[in-house]
Amino acid sequence: MTNILWLQGGACSGNTISFLNAEEPTVCDLITDFGMKVLWHPSLGMELGANLQKLLWDCISGKIPLDILVFEGTVINAPNGTGEWNRFADRPMKDWLSDLSKVAQFVVAVGDCATWGGIPAIAPNPSESEGLQFLKRQEGGFLGKDFRAKSGLPVINIPGCPAHPDWITQILVAIATGRISDITLDELHRPQTFFNTFTQTGCTRNVHFTYKATTSEFGQRKGCLFYDLGCRGPMTHSSCNRILWNRVSSKTRAGMPCLGCTEPEFPFFDLKPGTVFKTQTVMGVPKELPPGIKKTDYALLTVVAKNAAPPWAEEDIFTV
Ligand code: SF4
Ligand code: SF4
Repeated sequence: MTNILWLQGGACSGNTISFLNAEEPTVCDLITDFGMKVLWHPSLGMELGANLQKLLWDCISGKIPLDILVFEGTVINAPNGTGEWNRFADRPMKDWLSDLSKVAQFVVAVGDCATWGGIPAIAPNPSESEGLQFLKRQEGGFLGKDFRAKSGLPVINIPGCPAHPDWITQILVAIATGRISDITLDELHRPQTFFNTFTQTGCTRNVHFTYKATTSEFGQRKGCLFYDLGCRGPMTHSSCNRILWNRVSSKTRAGMPCLGCTEPEFPFFDLKPGTVFKTQTVMGVPKELPPGIKKTDYALLTVVAKNAAPPWAEEDIFTV
């Protein structure tokens, strides 16, 4: 039996909705096939008031072994570092977190807010939000750079806005079945199995990317979204086109640019008019290029690709 406790800080519940929609495996599979017990979850937990407080204190005292602590949402420190803006079960949530993370075998941060602060941590950050072990790309966060759970691992980060449902359930299964040591974490504590390739890996529009054929409107099935609509697929680490959403589609397959939601800098847009869903260019060259590509090489490549492009590069040739 693997005991899981799921708590929420400054959150929109998007990751909870994502989790409840998981398919491989489903949340029911976690319980029936993988021996997990959800001690409490904001949408599933039965305990309230004094009963909930007792459960949390029993975890802290060790009376109930806490195998996995999952956190969704930012750690709210406002006002003035007290955390009083986010009280839960009669204490600031950050105090529960501080105590529970010391007794948990594994701590898992789900979604951008819990991993690196997400949208709430954008300046001026009035809620004094931060992630569990990062604030944006800077290591540290609420628990500090040197934090290690009882298993010896740092916080396992599953970013995304929200995180893909199956990334969440598959990591929980890896922990529950003793396979987590097979999974390497990258420098941002993301499991490499999901984050060592780009959103572009597996994108059905790759052939259009190669020939510089563009998509000009959302939902259009032809072309690539990089040249006009600001797609961040080539520079975003995610498996969205390898492990499809609802096992059916992805943003780029549906004709919507990748927004880069698994990277600490998300959201990238400053929301000034003309910057959202618009590729920013200087002399016709995108300001941000796929990693490792030089601007001069890019310009040369563009000329060659456009000249070499067959007529069908402008056609709708893929299925979604
Ligand atoms: S749509 Fe985005 S992810 Fe797909 S090929 Fe174009 S740039 Fe890459
Ligand atoms: S396609 Fe991009 S923005 Fe969409 S979920 Fe995947 S990483 Fe996030």
